[in-house]
This record gives sequence, C-alpha cells and structure tokens, in this order.
Amino acid sequence: MNIALIAHDKKKDLMVNFVTAYEHVLKQHTLFGTGTTGKRIMASTSLEVNLFKSGPLGGDQQIGAEIANNRMDLVIFLRDPMTAQPHEPDIQALIRLCDVYMIPVATNIATGELLIKGLERGEINWRNLIRQNY
Ligand code: PGA
Repeated sequence: MNIALIAHDKKKDLMVNFVTAYEHVLKQHTLFGTGTTGKRIMASTSLEVNLFKSGPLGGDQQIGAEIANNRMDLVIFLRDPMTAQPHEPDIQALIRLCDVYMIPVATNIATGELLIKGLERGEINWRNLIRQNY
C-alpha cells in the first residue's frame, strides 16, 4: 500500500512517536511524506519515506495529485486545529480529494491508530483491487 504521512509542526513529535510505535506495520508498505515530516520520520526511525515538497510549498497538493491518480491508498494527516496554516486551501483540497476518491484518511492520532490496525488486519486490501482495475 502507498501511505502518505503528513503532520503540522506542533504534531510532528506526535507523528514520530506514532510511526515509531507502528514501525513494524509501516515498514511493509511504501511511505510518502511532505518534506519536513518525512525527514523527521527518517531521522528518528529506520523507515524510508519518499519525500514530496514541504506542505506550505506545495507538498499537500502533490499528495493530492497522487490521490487523484489513484496512487495513494491511505493518508495519515495529523493536523493542528489550533494554529492558522498559510496553506489552508491546500489542506482542504487534499482532504476533499480523499473524500472524492474514498481514500481512508485520518486527521488525528485516534483515527490514525484505527486505520493502522485495520491496515495490519488486511481490512484495506480492497484498495489493491481498485488500483489494479483503475
Ligand atoms: P511539512 O508539511 O511536513 O513539510 O512541514 C506539512 C504541512 O504543513 O502540510
């Protein structure tokens, strides 16, 4: 599965803790991330993350394009709901595309854990069928 990992600045420590806890699951998949989040993950774990641009510089839009092209299967986007983001329109667009293409997306760690546990149990394997038939 292709998995996108994004975290706003105040959620980056949480993201690192999260991917550390689920490294055994995530290492079986292909990971993508916005620039700063991806670099933080690679600096703290043994996971390989394919890097897009930093979120405010277009990284969210790049991930959105992957979703539109049916190349992303799961999105974990730890958003900071308490801080205004300069690229808020890009964030909304990314989440909208997840809804358009029915891509499982978590915007907080509680849902993120459920998605990763579902991923581990094979409950998102239907994405393989959709990708093959695209
Ligand atoms: P970053 O982008 O990982 O490059 O900080 C995340 C975001 O703010 O969308």
